[in-house]
Amino acid sequence: MVNRKWAVKLVTNAQMLALMASRYPKESWNDVDILGVTVRATRTIYLNTTMNTTTEELEHTFLHELGHAMLYANGVLGEHNEELVERLSGFLHQYEITKRGELNRGLESGA
Ligand SMILES: [Zn+2]
Repeated sequence: MVNRKWAVKLVTNAQMLALMASRYPKESWNDVDILGVTVRATRTIYLNTTMNTTTEELEHTFLHELGHAMLYANGVLGEHNEELVERLSGFLHQYEITKRGELNRGLESGA
């Protein structure tokens, strides 16, 4: 199986709105804050640096969009189940926290 690489791009809110306008019907996203979007056709995750104002928000949005990318990479097309995506990103966040914290401390203490 080929797991092609996905790119991540940081964009301003103005760039995000221009991207959305060029790709999706306005009714589907109008008046909604677009924190991030995953474009399957170009295998690119866009993160809105204007709307995600803290590192934690940016991380959460990235992991959420990574969930969409994982579904796309597994052939799940069309509208994704946002609850499923949130659960996947929750596990990814748990992984990240564990990797940074407990695992590092365990290695440092030789446990
Ligand atoms: Zn989503």
